Amino acid sequence: MSSRVSDYVDGARLWQRLMNLAAFGATPTGGVRRLALSPEEIAGRAELVRWARQLGLMPAVDDISNLFLRLEGTQPNLPPLLIGSHIDTQPTGGKFDGAYGVIGGLEAVEAIASSGKRPRRSIDIVAWFNEEGARFAPGMMGSAVFTATRQLAEIEQVVDRNGRSVRQEVDVVLAAERELPRRPLGFAVAGYIEAHIEQGVLLEGAGIPVGVVTGIQGKRTFRVEVFGEESHAGTTARAARRDALASATAIYRALQDAMNDEADEVRFTVGMLTVSPNAPSVVPAHVVFSIDLRHHDPETVKRLGDLIPEICEANRGACTVSVRPLLYDPPLTFSADLRMRLTAAAARIGVPTMELLSPAGHDARYLHYVCPTAMIFIPCRSGISHHPAESITPEHATVGVRVLTELAFELANE
Ligand SMILES: [Zn+2]
Repeated sequence: MSSRVSDYVDGARLWQRLMNLAAFGATPTGGVRRLALSPEEIAGRAELVRWARQLGLMPAVDDISNLFLRLEGTQPNLPPLLIGSHIDTQPTGGKFDGAYGVIGGLEAVEAIASSGKRPRRSIDIVAWFNEEGARFAPGMMGSAVFTATRQLAEIEQVVDRNGRSVRQEVDVVLAAERELPRRPLGFAVAGYIEAHIEQGVLLEGAGIPVGVVTGIQGKRTFRVEVFGEESHAGTTARAARRDALASATAIYRALQDAMNDEADEVRFTVGMLTVSPNAPSVVPAHVVFSIDLRHHDPETVKRLGDLIPEICEANRGACTVSVRPLLYDPPLTFSADLRMRLTAAAARIGVPTMELLSPAGHDARYLHYVCPTAMIFIPCRSGISHHPAESITPEHATVGVRVLTELAFELANE
């Protein structure tokens, strides 16, 4: 009888839990809408806590509502190993983005416990607060505050469209979970492993079940506001107009031109645009739009991002414009040592791997700033994600968690 911890991974149990969690916020189209701090997410967290207690894990929360489920090690005073991801989704999300890393972490810990072995360090499964940033922008707030990349006082004040603040809504979650012990923000950790669906097509194309993530591409985001003047659509001559939408579209076209690279590596997106007063016979007085810019090269991210304010200014026409930078995350490379050990862990249980870069952001970005961090990708069908059609196979789910379990047990024993 083999004595590897990964032999105790139960694929059926893993899949069942993924499906169970997907019921919280399930939509008629087979997707999931489980926004951060929503009643659906609170209910999903309660289910995680229930499972954790069944396994003898110790649940806890911190002040920004990151949720931790601890398997205690033989030396509980050592900094723990963290494994996890997030369970919030986009408004039209799928079943696996984020959920896979948390439920996979739970399965890894259950496998280790079932093997009869106990790691030296405690292992915390973590569900980070607000990774998606759909209601409160930007995303990855829980891991950003945990790692002190951003300050709690600043994050707390972020408001949604209805004027509700992060603080108010986090307090609702903490009240619902008042029986859970409170952990200090940003306690010392030995390492972090995040398993996630690829959200791309490289693994599927190569027929490889597990990806060793080399790093994350850089990202900058901005909010642009164009201020014009409201006037009558019938009586205001063109020369007299200060049409905020006309200026915004001129700015948009100029930005598209500037970001258009031959290699097709720049990722430039205006995904949100709001026109006010948004009335058919009124010249628009105000436009707000978002900019999401990404690239794998630090120089390019810097250069293109720095161009944005001047392009906006040069194309504002009769209106005024303000450009507010929201986020600047340079490209990063994960620990070479952990990548090597992840590859070796997979090899010793016969799982082929390949290295690849993550084009999407993950909580692993911020953990990487404070501890050795690794990411494991599994294939997802046609690379579709942030969509109800997001799909993975039970086999890939299981293989990914087997590799996760091997690496987690190894790291927790150091
Ligand atoms: Zn995710």
